[in-house]
Amino acid sequence: MKLISYNIKNFRSIEYMKYLPEPVKKEIEIVSRVLPFKTNNYVVDYLIDWENYETDPVYILTFPNRHMLPKHHYESVKDAIEKDLPEIEITRLINKIRFQLNPHPAQQATNVPKLNGVDLPGVQHKYRDIALFFPTQGQTCHANCTFCFRWPQFVKDLDLQFSMKEIDQLCDYVKEHEYLHEILFTGGDPMIMSPKTISTYIDKIINAKISNLDTIRFGTKSLTYWPFTFLPEFNEEAQEMLDLFKRIVDNGFHLSIMAHFNHINEMSNEVVEQAIKNVRSTGAQIRTQAPILKHINDDSEMWARMWTRQVKLGMVPYYMFVERETGPFEYFQMPLSKVYELYTNAIRIAGSMAKTVTAPVMSAAPGKVQIMGVVENPIDQENYFMLQFVRNRDHNKTFKPFFMHYDENATWFDQLEPVELQLKSA
Ligand code: SF4
Repeated sequence: MKLISYNIKNFRSIEYMKYLPEPVKKEIEIVSRVLPFKTNNYVVDYLIDWENYETDPVYILTFPNRHMLPKHHYESVKDAIEKDLPEIEITRLINKIRFQLNPHPAQQATNVPKLNGVDLPGVQHKYRDIALFFPTQGQTCHANCTFCFRWPQFVKDLDLQFSMKEIDQLCDYVKEHEYLHEILFTGGDPMIMSPKTISTYIDKIINAKISNLDTIRFGTKSLTYWPFTFLPEFNEEAQEMLDLFKRIVDNGFHLSIMAHFNHINEMSNEVVEQAIKNVRSTGAQIRTQAPILKHINDDSEMWARMWTRQVKLGMVPYYMFVERETGPFEYFQMPLSKVYELYTNAIRIAGSMAKTVTAPVMSAAPGKVQIMGVVENPIDQENYFMLQFVRNRDHNKTFKPFFMHYDENATWFDQLEPVELQLKSA
């Protein structure tokens, strides 16, 4: 494997613009005043087909375009820039728009728990057995995804971020809740942190000897955006990161890397394959997840190939999500009926070991809702959605199928009407 031919400057500068015509650059400049934009040379040089960039999935995944903002918002920002309004006025306008883009979907702010009556601002505890931890140093990514529901984490001048450094407080909180078994490091991308920084958190968790804690997870897109995190050939810190993973496993924890892969093209380079091998050699498990998105991956055959390839590389397909109602969702969202159709067409042809995926799932305010089917009632010959919570704030409500009225155009759970239905034969 000729890994060494990769150039990893990791520039995050204006250089990427060299591939783009002037009007496109202008659009990017306008949209990225509102929504975060960040890329790096690995994404630009090795993941995007610049001959066909307009339809390239990784280009659309990482480069904003004008349609990602509602037209009136796009025009107002463009107008403000062209009129050369004072920066303070432009910032005010941009923040107003951001607040109209539903920055905290699914009532995330209500998930912040308290310890001894004090908020833990970098923790979310929504589901019984898992706490999400947002380490302060991990609230950015190697590149930003245009669809990301966590976009407010990357926006300055907006009081919307979750983060903290005080892992001791989280340890105390987990100890107090004996049914809490898992800590998920999330962000941003926690794998943006150096192994030394992550170690300071992990060492405290290990030393806290929390008997009810058995699983540590990292949510990350670094296997796509910066696989060099796990490649000692390129990165002198990579071995330290792999050693850290091994230390977590050797201390008796199940370590799960929650890897985001939106498109099979993200797994096309041998550096990704080697990074996956290296991570797995530590004893960590890699589970994969991603939302289904118009313009990027609304293609059943691609999903089937992607899941099947993930299994071949030793990963476990875990979740396919529905795009959340935040930020540029109007550009990416599809009707639930369409999403369900794409999912079923994909899972039917995916390899049998790839059928571990739970899908399609909406991370809604009460919990994660899976669309289980579209069912015709033989009495009224009407269609209904059958759903279930695979996660819920109240765990007693999970895995109980229920019905909602079928709506061909609904794109989110709260647009569906509940129904009391008795399925009897006519
Ligand atoms: S890597 Fe993850 S957190 Fe970062 S922008 Fe992409 S989806 Fe969002």
